[in-house]
Amino acid sequence: MSTREFLQEVGEFGLIHRIRKWISSSDPFLIQGIGDDVAVIKLGKKVLLVTTDILIEDIHFRRSWTKPYDLGRKALAVNLSDIASMGGTPKYFLISIGLPKNLPFSFISSFYRGLRKEAKEFQIELIGGDTSLSQRIVINLCLLGEGKEENILFRKGARVGDALFVTGTLGDAALGLKILQEGRKIQGSNRLIQKLLVPRPRIELGKALAKNHWATAMIDVSDGLLMDASHLLEESGVGACIWENRIPLSRSYQKWICSLSNDPILFALSGGEDYELLFTAPNEIEGKLSSLSRLFKIPITSIGKILPQKEGLQIIREDGKVYSPSQLGFEHFK
Ligand code: ADP
Ligand code: MG
Repeated sequence: MSTREFLQEVGEFGLIHRIRKWISSSDPFLIQGIGDDVAVIKLGKKVLLVTTDILIEDIHFRRSWTKPYDLGRKALAVNLSDIASMGGTPKYFLISIGLPKNLPFSFISSFYRGLRKEAKEFQIELIGGDTSLSQRIVINLCLLGEGKEENILFRKGARVGDALFVTGTLGDAALGLKILQEGRKIQGSNRLIQKLLVPRPRIELGKALAKNHWATAMIDVSDGLLMDASHLLEESGVGACIWENRIPLSRSYQKWICSLSNDPILFALSGGEDYELLFTAPNEIEGKLSSLSRLFKIPITSIGKILPQKEGLQIIREDGKVYSPSQLGFEHFK
């Protein structure tokens, strides 16, 4: 490796790829280490699920945009979403916080109120953490969950011929971020901003998919549809095509996208932080998924098809033209 290589050339995922090569484990109880949304460890008849995510001030959030209460909820929600993507049940969490000394005490008490609200909603318990001085607010959560080994859904497992499904709508959070960044007051855009500030992890839906063995592979969409789809494809060793005009867009998205961007689909393809579930399942399951969608009142949309690996990731435009995306989505350092 060249000593003049910098992180901005390697990128977040290039770095993780290398870390994965440096660390190889032969632990017989480790079912899944680096490379999925959570680590999976065999523990008696069950599996232990472990995930961690970090939020850094001015990288992941701005104090002027988010209430500390909502930040508390989001800190937990982004981790819950990773457990949802495995079809697991969240149980316990630890939280480490780095805080500047001039932070108003009310900020941290409101933050913990938000954390408590989210923990109560998902029936999980805070069991510890760590506290330190820091120049900016840093929040790191470690969430533990459980599941039955035979039910756990991985990024690997997609098969050629499977359909590709996504829950909810895409691009809302990225459009909400754009509105905040531009500092524009847009009437009726609150839904988009809320999706960014208080994402709703799809725990129950993820569990239902896993328990019924309907999905073959699953990931949560945190870095954008194309980026997370490419992770799922890579782990499964397959390719895919996605029809642009099938991507589910909310009414708010459709209403505001044209005044905020000249590419109507870009935010839905590459915008991060939707925390929806992206999964593959055989075509025959579509009817069952419609019932599930009605039950949970969450849209489930078939957006693509799994192809052999050599086909890569292809996007089919409304006019039928096919292209391979050059930019996938958000990546730290790049
Ligand atoms: P997600 O977006 O679902 O949180 P990431 O893209 O952050 O997943 O991480 C992908 C995989 O890489 C996960 O298995 C995660 O635990 C692992 N990972 C990320 N950063 C590091 C790191 N610095 N060292 C070791 N493993 C890491
Ligand atoms: Mg994830």
